[in-house]
Amino acid sequence: MAPAIDLRSDTVTRPTPAMRAAMAEAPVGDDQYGEDPTTNALQQRCAALLGKEDALWLPSGTMANQVALRVLARPGDEVVTSRESHAGWHETGGAAANSGVQLVEVGRGGVFTTEDFLAAIKPHGLPVFAPTTLVQIENTHNRGGGVVFPQAEVERICAAARERGMASYLDGARLWNAAVASGRSEAELAAPFDLVGVAFSKGLGAPGGSLLAGSRAHIAVAHRQRRMLGGAMRQNGIFAAAALHGIDHHRSRLADDHRNARAFAQALAASPAVQLDLATVQTNIVVFRLAPGAPDAATLVAQARAEGVLLNAFAARTVRAVTHLDVSAGQVVQAATILRRLLEG
Ligand SMILES: *Cc1c(COP(=O)(O)O)cnc(C)c1O
Repeated sequence: MAPAIDLRSDTVTRPTPAMRAAMAEAPVGDDQYGEDPTTNALQQRCAALLGKEDALWLPSGTMANQVALRVLARPGDEVVTSRESHAGWHETGGAAANSGVQLVEVGRGGVFTTEDFLAAIKPHGLPVFAPTTLVQIENTHNRGGGVVFPQAEVERICAAARERGMASYLDGARLWNAAVASGRSEAELAAPFDLVGVAFSKGLGAPGGSLLAGSRAHIAVAHRQRRMLGGAMRQNGIFAAAALHGIDHHRSRLADDHRNARAFAQALAASPAVQLDLATVQTNIVVFRLAPGAPDAATLVAQARAEGVLLNAFAARTVRAVTHLDVSAGQVVQAATILRRLLEG
């Protein structure tokens, strides 16, 4: 059988030979002494790309999100975020366990309005309420189907937060995709926020690593929190070199992933067994529902696997497919054809 067409996630990519060569040749040192030249270069490069004073490498996007909560909020605080946010759904309760905050999800389809945000802020002045101190936006939004958060609304929400003395955090694990899809730079997308997190292990194809960028003062606190959570590394240049290679060589090609996701989604949306709003397919993620009468998600995922197509069951009747560096335009069309045969008999 041909190798599987793996659409489970953009994290399944393997480093290319050129990325492995960059990793093998990377100058390294002890990053806990600030002596890893490749990590230092990556942090400087990303601070500039994201338009912030300083930046810090972290082992994963989950740790970046946890550290951001510990920098910007206190235990008992309330954090407003999008419905089905990564922070609430995919970090095994980390926001509560590691940072002691409670998340309040607002809006619809991964985005929310300034009015949604303002309505969720608890009143001040009465000691029964949790203080709402942070707003967190996910761009692009994973469970929302990879949608890009409208930037004008981002600006209004962050301005409203600032006026009220609240902090703002951008979970930009897939900010690179948002930049390519919107035609805005990463720095422009990150500008309204106090802190921004980005991932190297998704569309950029690196084997691991994320990064936080923000003011020098915030990054200094993040440094300590990373160490406290056990995420401080030593000869980290091997990972940083992969990230630099991804930024240089895999960033503009994200447009290919977006085109492939669109082609896959269009082929599926034509099936009566599939419920899919093509307006949500803006980047490299396709989230679709199975119509009444069609098999459920677990059944479709198992049947597709037997045919060499790997997908994720996101809910009982919801499936996610993600395009990336290791799937071609031809493969996504093939995958859609196989899925339609399975669904329509
Ligand atoms: C993947 C992802 C993360 C976490 O990244 P890991 O490296 O898997 O821990 C955080 N936020 C979003 C939106 C993600 O998609």
